[in-house]
Parts: sequence; C-alpha cells; structure tokens
Amino acid sequence: MTIVSRFAPSPTGRLHLGHAYSALFAAQAAKQAQGRFIVRMEDIDPGRCRTEYDEQILEDLTWLGLSWDGPVRRQSQHMSDYKAALQKLSDMDVLYPCFCTRSDIRREIEACGYAPHNSPSGPDGPLYPGSCRALSKAQRDDRKAEGAPFALRLDMQKAINITGSLQWKDKDTGTINAQPEIFGDVVLARKETPTSYHLAVTLDDHIQEITLVTRGQDLFHASHVHTLLQSLLELNKPHYHHHVLLQDETGQRYAKRDNAATLAEMRSSGTSPDEIIKYLGFIP
Ligand code: GLU
Repeated sequence: MTIVSRFAPSPTGRLHLGHAYSALFAAQAAKQAQGRFIVRMEDIDPGRCRTEYDEQILEDLTWLGLSWDGPVRRQSQHMSDYKAALQKLSDMDVLYPCFCTRSDIRREIEACGYAPHNSPSGPDGPLYPGSCRALSKAQRDDRKAEGAPFALRLDMQKAINITGSLQWKDKDTGTINAQPEIFGDVVLARKETPTSYHLAVTLDDHIQEITLVTRGQDLFHASHVHTLLQSLLELNKPHYHHHVLLQDETGQRYAKRDNAATLAEMRSSGTSPDEIIKYLGFIP
C-alpha cells in the first residue's frame, strides 16, 4: 500500500520549531516508503486564519527543503463537502441543533450541582450537559424560526449505538479501542463556521486518500472521534502515528506566540535549514 501522509497546519501564525518537526515527520514517513506527502491548509476559522500566513507557511516549508505532491487543499474552499457530510449525518438522525451559548452551558452545569472546575469533562473541556438534545421537533423549529443561532452536535450515544464498538491503529501504541464517548456530544458545525475541526479533518483525510495521519500527541484523543465519524460516513480508515510534542529549554511546548522559535526569525538570524533539520533529529 502506498503511504500518503500530510502536514495540515492552520494558517493562524508563522511556523515554529514544533510545526517544523511535525512537517518533517510527515514528509519523512512518506519519503521512506516512496509514498506521497501532501500539504493541507486547515483554514475554516475566518476569524483567525489569514492568507498572508498561508503564503508564509508554504514559503517556510520550501525554505526548509520540503516539497509536496499535488495542489494544496484549502478547507475554506470545500464547505460544500462538509455540508454534504452533515446532511448524511442528519439523515441518519445523529445530529441535533444546539442553541446554547457558553454561559447557558455553564449555568446548566452548575444547575446539575457541579462547580465549573470539577464538572465531568473530556479532552475538549467540560462535557455538554445535553440540554438541547431533549428539545422536541416543534421546539427546535420555533427556535430556528425566531432566528436563534445554533450549532450542530453529534448525539454521541445514538452514533455509538449505530456503529457499535470500533478500533483504530496507532503506530506506537497498537490497536486502540475507540472511546469517542469521552468527548460527549461534540460540535460538528457552528453557525459562523459551518463545519468543525473534527468533521473537516476526517473528511479531508478520506478525500485526499491519506493512509497515514501523523500529528502531535495532543491530538491523540481526537482520533477516537475521527474513527467514529469514519464509520458513520463510510470513509477510509487511515493508520495514525502521534508523535512527541517538542518542548523548549524551559519544558514548554512551542506555541505561535514564541517569536524566537519561528522559522522566519531563525532564518533571519542566520540559522540554516540543515541546522534546523539536524537539531530536530532528521537527516538533511
Ligand atoms: N490543523 C491542526 C493543527 O494545526 C492539525 C490537524 C491534524 O493534523 O489533524 O493543529
């Protein structure tokens, strides 16, 4: 099987050393297997993504010596794909509109007797208490007719009842039993962004025929939800390889705010691409 890997940054800032590691990791996985390496811009959030970052990211990758196969896919140009997937999930009756604001959710959690810091939570934060799951069709229609903004949530229990138990393969940890329930009823689309990270990434990995998803360990748990979506939407199931997250000298993860660690800054202070590649443990 040909390995197809990808680097999928969000154009919300300049690339730093952590991104460089992730990009080199994905490119190397493909190269070693004479496979294909793809770059995708995860630019679904219009409030945070900028075209100039998109251009600079590609420039930084090229400077680093990376090249990719085929055109760069930009998620913002493929909203109709995500819409079609949402329609399919809606036809399966596993989506419901959620009209709650953040403060509605906080109030509901408190009303259930939890202090905000010790309410049941999952990898993305406090679990949604499910208030809108119980609305009747008439109530939903009324709220929509009033023009109330809403997100679309996955009814996690209903979804799991359809798929049954699932597994996914991680290169380091082996076969993993999927536990999407740890996320509760995840949001799959928002009014201002008619898709979500989970939906867009899962669908794109299928459309781009990715066979090996490489990404940081911070996204390990996300693979539980992606496996569930793959099963519901009848998509390909890539293998996964979650890599270590690089830390700076103080033991902190690199972040977009760390100016000194951006490739742009390192390049302007005279560091060569080969020095970076070696520093990150790859062979130039
Ligand atoms: N776009 C995500 C990020 O920049 C990565 C998504 C993924 O690799 O699945 O963190």
